[in-house]
Amino acid sequence: MTPAGRFAPSPSGELHVGNLRTAMLAWLFARSTGRRFLLRIEDLDRARAGAEQAQLADLAAIGLDWDGDVVRQSERTPVYEAAIESLRSAGLVYECFCTRREILEAPSAPHAPQGAYPGTCRTLSQDERAERRRHRPAALRLRAGVTTFTMRDMLHGDFTGTVDDMVLRRNDRVPAYNLAVVVDDAAQGVDQVVRGDDLLASTPRQAYLATLLGLPLPEYAHVPLVLNHERRRLAKRDGAVTLAALAERGVDAATVTDRILASLDLPAGGLRHALAGFDPAALPKDAWIYDRAVMEAAQ
Ligand code: GLU
Repeated sequence: MTPAGRFAPSPSGELHVGNLRTAMLAWLFARSTGRRFLLRIEDLDRARAGAEQAQLADLAAIGLDWDGDVVRQSERTPVYEAAIESLRSAGLVYECFCTRREILEAPSAPHAPQGAYPGTCRTLSQDERAERRRHRPAALRLRAGVTTFTMRDMLHGDFTGTVDDMVLRRNDRVPAYNLAVVVDDAAQGVDQVVRGDDLLASTPRQAYLATLLGLPLPEYAHVPLVLNHERRRLAKRDGAVTLAALAERGVDAATVTDRILASLDLPAGGLRHALAGFDPAALPKDAWIYDRAVMEAAQ
């Protein structure tokens, strides 16, 4: 299988300029290295009717192309269940009955990093589990053997982050994102993961999970986000931040694409044209502070 890169949006709404920029970078990384480029719709939760079609149309409008069919996570439950089963048969899965609130209020385990699951249900006896099952369906958690893991990122170098007893399947039986993303990337032959650097913190968990499942680690590149002037994530109030809203102001998709390329120090003329000059080492390292006046300027 030719190795691949990918873009994996959650169909929870319209893509904004930040998402489009990340998608363009994922495409540039993949295509400039002769990889296939795949699209995967991460619709295990947060799916909104019509959002997938709108996202695909926007991605095509900024010049992205992709190989093969779009994969939807909601259609792959048996694959995730098989991965959970293999962890379970290795003794690495336990049932957890904690509510969000109980987790927040539990005293954290000694030396456990902040935000890590405190391990409340790790040592329940069979009788205790049976009793709790009568009141609440169980989520499934990983019995992690480490508290941190180090992975390598093309832009951030070696990065060490927290690993805890992460959820593998929620108590509504929906597979957890961390599990699905690891299983899918390996199954699709994805060996290059380019995504926003807001996801860097959860990557050590995913890399650890991949090693437990005997899956190869992809190369990671966590790219800078687009932020507003307060250095917060882009939102509607920051101006026209979607292709539809920009089109209403007379800025077409080709112009948006070129303005995003300019933010990456790449030449205008469309995504394909930018490929020749693309050099990951020359990428701006900092977030792009969104300037609506520049993006919305008359063509
Ligand atoms: N679906 C995730 C998101 O839209 C991205 C996951 C990934 O790229 O690994 O934030």
